[in-house]
Amino acid sequence: RPGAGLPATKGGIEVPENVILTTVDSVVSAARKFSLWPMPFATACCGIELMAVGASRFDIARFGAEVMRFSPRQCDLLIVAGRVAMKMLPVLQRIWLQMPEPKWSISMGACASTGGVFDTYAVVQGVDRFIPIDVYIPGCPPRPEQILRALMDMQAKIQAGGSVFGTGLPELAEREKMLA
Ligand code: SF4
Repeated sequence: RPGAGLPATKGGIEVPENVILTTVDSVVSAARKFSLWPMPFATACCGIELMAVGASRFDIARFGAEVMRFSPRQCDLLIVAGRVAMKMLPVLQRIWLQMPEPKWSISMGACASTGGVFDTYAVVQGVDRFIPIDVYIPGCPPRPEQILRALMDMQAKIQAGGSVFGTGLPELAEREKMLA
């Protein structure tokens, strides 16, 4: 490659081409987005599609998010997959609170995001009324490819807004008040 190995000028300073300049925030965000540990809160049919992304055909491991855990204290990505009954809501909120910071969330499917076809007093009409949601996946059920798309959107959000001290999502602290 022409010019390979020759110093380049960045900000008036000569930097060899084999030196990469970055920031601590950028490196930390990259580490976080490629090592998400999902907490699958699967309550209904959407959960089956969520299982499919872990199998070989879709292979969520390609995105570094295959380590699904059923202990919220080990997770940093809550995936709400399926309708949430009002009786189940306190459990969902407790799980969200038990997850350590920084943490993110995905609402998967029409039921989780809006109640879907279950327009009834017994089903939560959108989990974002009670816990903060970062990415929504439309569909009934969403295809596994859509889950991977949402994961990539989540990664972009983490990279864009991340900092060493938190998620960098300005609205997060505000939305945490919903749980109070
Ligand atoms: Fe089932 Fe559709 Fe609701 Fe998902 S959105 S839980 S597939 S009814």
